[in-house]
Amino acid sequence: MRIGFAGLGAIGTPMAARCAAVHQLAVWNRTAERATEFAKATPGSRQAISPRDLAEGADAIITCLPTSAQVEALLEGPDGLLAGMTQGSILVDCTSGDAATSRRIAERLATLGIAFVDAPLSGGPPLAIQGKLTVMCGGSPADVERATQVVAPFAAKVVRMGPVGAGHAMKAANNALLAANILTLAEALVTLAKAGIAPRDAVDVLNASSGRSFVSEVLIPDRVLSGTWPRLFRMALLEKDIGIFHDLAGEVGVADPVLGFSREQCRALRAALGESADYLDPIRVAEQAAGVELRG
Ligand code: NDP
Repeated sequence: MRIGFAGLGAIGTPMAARCAAVHQLAVWNRTAERATEFAKATPGSRQAISPRDLAEGADAIITCLPTSAQVEALLEGPDGLLAGMTQGSILVDCTSGDAATSRRIAERLATLGIAFVDAPLSGGPPLAIQGKLTVMCGGSPADVERATQVVAPFAAKVVRMGPVGAGHAMKAANNALLAANILTLAEALVTLAKAGIAPRDAVDVLNASSGRSFVSEVLIPDRVLSGTWPRLFRMALLEKDIGIFHDLAGEVGVADPVLGFSREQCRALRAALGESADYLDPIRVAEQAAGVELRG
């Protein structure tokens, strides 16, 4: 397949690298230098000079940007994606975006005979490198089947959640739970540390007990207890995701008092920590407030 990939960020870069090993790949990035470096370092890839250039001759376009609004903004204009995309091609949007914007994008593309699937991911850069991401899709069964072929180089599990927007809904709920889990676990572990319990012991017992989670089993031991704190996913993006969930709950008329409160906490943390903070930095904030460090 001829694939055009837009968005060489923390997770887009390893996804694109997996694609280059299997498909003919063109890459475009807003900051052109990142695409230049990628194309130099990645055999089988070329740098596109515009979204239009990226789309010309492509069977499928993959986008992986912070928000759906940014994907939508890439479509129009003389150098936009739609100036290059051809009838019968497909846009697979791996952004963790919002359903309403994606439905609008899908309608616009349908007028041109172009398919659209929202295909947000779970797994993070380490699993992207291994080609083991989970992809949750929204679109018609036939379009999702096509998208499955497109994402195959970086996906271990691809699931159709429903029509366009359903992938985004699923992803937003997952990340709302992730955010709440990070915040609540930080409170619990810092409290235990202050009460004199060694952080490693607390995490070990939690992970053999019913309060455990992905955060306690993987993220805390690998990144916090070890003190390595790799920067793999921006706090700003997690705050965006829990905000999408909160809006969805409002749209369907469900009260979300607990996740809604977590959303407010995430908002405040994003404002305090800035746009480049990592999603585990709230744990540092809890450590500093309590005067303890979760290491060991
Ligand atoms: P990054 O912030 O690392 O990268 C964002 C990418 O989008 C960059 O290539 C950036 O270009 C580009 N970009 C930003 N704004 C615009 C714009 N207005 N127009 C065009 N391009 C733009 O994000 P990630 O790679 O971490 O995340 C990408 C998406 O994947 C997000 O929706 C995120 O929520 C989701 N995701 C991320 C995961 C992770 O672990 N990192 C895991 C699962 C999902 P530039 O280089 O110019 O800044």
